[in-house]
Amino acid sequence: MSSYRPETICVQGGYTPGSGEPRQIPIIQSTTFKYATSEDMGKLFDLEADGYFYSRLQNPTCDHVAAKIAALEGGTAAMLTSSGQAANFFALFNIASCGDHVVSSSSIYGGTFNLISVTMAKMGVEVTFVSPDCTAEELDAAFRPNTKAVFGETIANPALTVLDIEKFAAAAHAHGVPLVVDNTFATPINCRPFDWGADIVTHSTTKYMDGHGVAVGGAIVDAGKFDWMAHADRFPGLCTPDESYHGITYAEKFGKEGAFITKCTAQLMRDFGSTPSPQSAFYLNLGLESLHVRMKRHCENGQAVAEFLAAHPKVTHVNYCGLPGDKYHALAEKYLPNGSCGVVSFELKGGREAAGVFMSRLRLAAIETHVADARTCCLNPAGTTHRQMTDEQLAAAGVPAGLVRMSCGLESGEDLIEDIRQALEAVD
Ligand SMILES: *Cc1c(COP(=O)(O)O)cnc(C)c1O
Repeated sequence: MSSYRPETICVQGGYTPGSGEPRQIPIIQSTTFKYATSEDMGKLFDLEADGYFYSRLQNPTCDHVAAKIAALEGGTAAMLTSSGQAANFFALFNIASCGDHVVSSSSIYGGTFNLISVTMAKMGVEVTFVSPDCTAEELDAAFRPNTKAVFGETIANPALTVLDIEKFAAAAHAHGVPLVVDNTFATPINCRPFDWGADIVTHSTTKYMDGHGVAVGGAIVDAGKFDWMAHADRFPGLCTPDESYHGITYAEKFGKEGAFITKCTAQLMRDFGSTPSPQSAFYLNLGLESLHVRMKRHCENGQAVAEFLAAHPKVTHVNYCGLPGDKYHALAEKYLPNGSCGVVSFELKGGREAAGVFMSRLRLAAIETHVADARTCCLNPAGTTHRQMTDEQLAAAGVPAGLVRMSCGLESGEDLIEDIRQALEAVD
């Protein structure tokens, strides 16, 4: 299936029914699976045979959908998680634990920033944040002997910076560690980080992959290229026997292609249980079937709205890498030649107050903390998610008080622009 083009994989990847079997991926809504003998089941526990025994670890519906995402990203193995937060936590904690260190772009989703800088710090994992725009030398200087991974987002939420994936991959590999890229906003339709040297890709499938605001979920995909055994001292969890799993050495038994996801399932999913329901995986698959059609439209609407705003006298600044004047336009031309995403952010001359008036006048765009679904929505971070910060702190964090983040949905672009035009008329 991975030899097909993305459009075909979106529709048919991950599941090939046999004669007389359901055409659509069946929802196997069962916690457990029956076996004829104890020995048969024992082989599954020893990871000696493939199969299902308990849906906290693996479920056929979830695995079909994970296989589709693996094929879309061009990876060798994938797993679903119950949220994007769980995906990023598992992807990092699978290789970095107490006493270890990670290097991360500072321009990442707030939830991930908190996960790494606060919660993982409590678990003994240290982090050094670097600007996504740092030089190769600055990036190099962030590494320590105990660094285990590098992390960044293809298009950052909400800053909309574009990651120079090749620069980050080169630095990670020079230090013998993998690059983990959160590809939520670009989706594999617009960028495949593995093609540029990333080793692990994560997703909040809650966003464009689901695309309808129906189910929270996440995914982790392995490119199958990182040679754990060549850096065995650095990755004992993958390269020495796992006593909690019958003495298996993941990198030996499952190779580069399967070690990361097998360990992540066998250890982290087993112990933390952040597993999606088969019903949620089914919804996610419905979203994936039209991802290639929807992304094109999200990008067209994003581009049209960004161009309209950039020319409007009441708007001081627009962030959208599809605009020729954007700071990230050159990187977008390289990594996102077919478009970036439907999320645009912009600043109003009238600041926080103007943002409030503007948003209250919108008829189509709803005020929500969500992004990336079929319905257009918007948010003023200063008045909501970043409410505790002063205007000075907001400016320093790159989130000015008058900033509005708008996630362009799948409505008519003309209607969206008309809605924005009339709402701006109400602003001084
Ligand atoms: C939303 C988001 C997350 C967190 O995902 P949830 O599904 O909400 O847990 C992680 N990364 C990015 C880029 C996101 O936009």
